[in-house]
Amino acid sequence: MSKAFEGKKVLITGGSKGIGKGIAQAFYSEGADVGILARSEEGLKAAKEEIGDIQTYVCDVTVDEERQNTFQRFIETFGGIDVLVNNAGGSSGGKIADTSMEQFTLAMETNYFQAVHFSKMAYEQMKERGGAVINITSIFGKEAGGKATYNNAKAALISFTKAAGNEWIKDGVRVNSIAPGSILHPTGNWQKRIEENPEAMERFVEQNIPAGRFGNVEEVADAALFLASQEARWLVGTTLTADGGQSRMNI
Ligand code: NDP
Repeated sequence: MSKAFEGKKVLITGGSKGIGKGIAQAFYSEGADVGILARSEEGLKAAKEEIGDIQTYVCDVTVDEERQNTFQRFIETFGGIDVLVNNAGGSSGGKIADTSMEQFTLAMETNYFQAVHFSKMAYEQMKERGGAVINITSIFGKEAGGKATYNNAKAALISFTKAAGNEWIKDGVRVNSIAPGSILHPTGNWQKRIEENPEAMERFVEQNIPAGRFGNVEEVADAALFLASQEARWLVGTTLTADGGQSRMNI
């Protein structure tokens, strides 16, 4: 039986760990030709061993030339791109008064500008034959909560998702985003916080996540498969919340 993404070419930024690795695994299991990028060669090697026959690229998404070179290499290897998942990102900084302008800039570089650049490069390839861009944002980009540097950058990415979705749909390129709530995985921030203070994290879940547990990477990956599929053909510029109800507290 043919798989849902057989022969589709999928690039996932930050695909060596956590949510990105889960998304890479999901597309690979559905028959896609998958490429992932991250900074650590070791991390990429470990992800490839776990997932299977995928392409890996060492790339720091905050560096313009590295983005261009990596994207070019992906296109040379695969001959095109059908799905781009802008997953790379991360949180830094603290309270606004204690956070330097350099940290604000870095947060925008890490979470926003690079995703805009990858999207623009993907659009140039996709506009002839269609495609899907999926931005991994956050419930913290939709409302308050979390660090301002991170929230600001994710809010910008949600806004970009709408703008690019509206501009590019005429060429058959659908741009959407997923806003995950707190997702637990072995290498992530929540796991670290559980190890530091399990009782506080139990209280956090009880008070903040109506589903009564953290989300997992498969639950975000399933949303990504859906957004990239034909079944989501009428979804344009939207942000799907995947959070077990958590954002009802995020006011
Ligand atoms: P992780 O930190 O576990 O993984 C991040 C991935 O991105 C790794 O593969 C990492 O590899 C790569 N990466 C980080 N910085 C760069 C960079 N500058 N250049 C290239 N690759 C980079 O994160 P999560 O899986 O937890 O999160 C993934 C995405 O989901 C992020 O955008 C995050 O903001 C978002 N998100 C996560 C939530 C959660 O609860 N986990 C909730 C809501 C949103 P390497 O370090 O080797 O570069």
